[in-house]
Amino acid sequence: MCYAIPGKVESINEKTVTVSYFGETKKAINELHDLRPGDYIYAQGGYVIEKIPAEQAEDILQTWKEVFFDLQDLDLRLSRLDLQDKNIDPGLLRILDRALEEKPLKKEELLYLLDLKGHPEQELLFKAANFLRQKYHKNACCVHGIIEISNYCRRNCAYCGIAGHVKGLERYRMTPGEIVGASLEAIEKYGFRALVLQSGEDPGYTIKELAGVIKEIKAKAAVLIFISFGEMPEKDLVELYQAGARGLLLRFETSNPILYDKLHTGHSLESRLDTLRAARRLGYVIITGGLLGLPGQTYVDILNDLYLTKELGATMFSFGPLIPHPLTELATAPMPREKEILKVLALARFIDPQNANVVVTTGFETLSPTGRKRGLLAGANSVMLNLTPIKYRRLYSIYPNRAHEQEGIAEQVRDTVSLLQSIGRAPTDLGVT
Ligand code: SAM
Repeated sequence: MCYAIPGKVESINEKTVTVSYFGETKKAINELHDLRPGDYIYAQGGYVIEKIPAEQAEDILQTWKEVFFDLQDLDLRLSRLDLQDKNIDPGLLRILDRALEEKPLKKEELLYLLDLKGHPEQELLFKAANFLRQKYHKNACCVHGIIEISNYCRRNCAYCGIAGHVKGLERYRMTPGEIVGASLEAIEKYGFRALVLQSGEDPGYTIKELAGVIKEIKAKAAVLIFISFGEMPEKDLVELYQAGARGLLLRFETSNPILYDKLHTGHSLESRLDTLRAARRLGYVIITGGLLGLPGQTYVDILNDLYLTKELGATMFSFGPLIPHPLTELATAPMPREKEILKVLALARFIDPQNANVVVTTGFETLSPTGRKRGLLAGANSVMLNLTPIKYRRLYSIYPNRAHEQEGIAEQVRDTVSLLQSIGRAPTDLGVT
């Protein structure tokens, strides 16, 4: 199973290569020494991760070609947009019109969109976001995998079911051998080319151990590795970068410092942002975002979260609902509604139409069984599959009954590919534009 289409290198300019995918060109950062124009490569998250023999690439491209253009056609049909509806508030039509003309929207306009109440208006917003997604990203959908390597955590986030203070949870920590094994299986057996390794903030691993794991995976397979081990000092980020990690997944959770303090006693938003900013300086690809539906959170907060995500240089926007965990302080918090999440995914697309990869989170899929499809049709272009070994997955209980908790990898891959194909998407990552 292939999650990426091979691209042909057209030109190389220092570290940046221009790659062609059936005639469409994209740019990617290259760290391979022996790359030449005419070579075939796989790129993920804007990085060249592997050179592949021409014969093999041409074979794959041959198989893909027909399907690829059929999918593109279907996607194009599904993302058509009509802004002529006489029953829709003309004010909304004007805002959407400006957005579609690539004019940046003002804060008040974005807040107006976030506050939309009527069903037809909300649906039009989602369609407009889908139109922009198609315009800039065509039908490419990133399919990354996540492996949750440990549920030990020294922090006490008020909403999180694996927080250190949560009693009675069976804790696990995968051994380096298990992590490497699960990663290689994901890469070699299922074709994943971008993996997130995630844990609670677990002092049980040393940075040397984590670096060793990353080095071993990178030595054995071509993959873009994201780390998601929580906050860390710059020197640790440097060590993991040198080991081969190139991405960081770290949500800042909320950009409102007062709300942040309330939910994270003893920690500060600034120190979380320090990790994100340091990682960006070092060249990490950033995935960040926040939780939606936090008690006391306003639309202004959410809009500021979206602005902050862009300011942090994120290539992936990760926004998902708070799902109350019964053993946490927020046990009785109301869950946000599906439409509220969809509006935020749509706004993420409006705020950074060209660069944002907008992910449909597992949290959203847990909140709504149709969330993945609805999200992908409301501006999102990315999904993350849970590749944690099944015996550990239920223990990574940040909230109860997580979507896909019991599904094997093969089943998730099959369902994902079939959903993507039903809406004309190709499970590719064509890299940065
Ligand atoms: N230690 C890393 C960190 O600090 O980012 C990664 C692990 S942390 C458990 C991963 C994410 O889970 C957090 O960024 C948070 O947004 C999410 N999370 C935790 N509890 C949640 C809940 N009850 N509902 C939805 N998401 C939750």
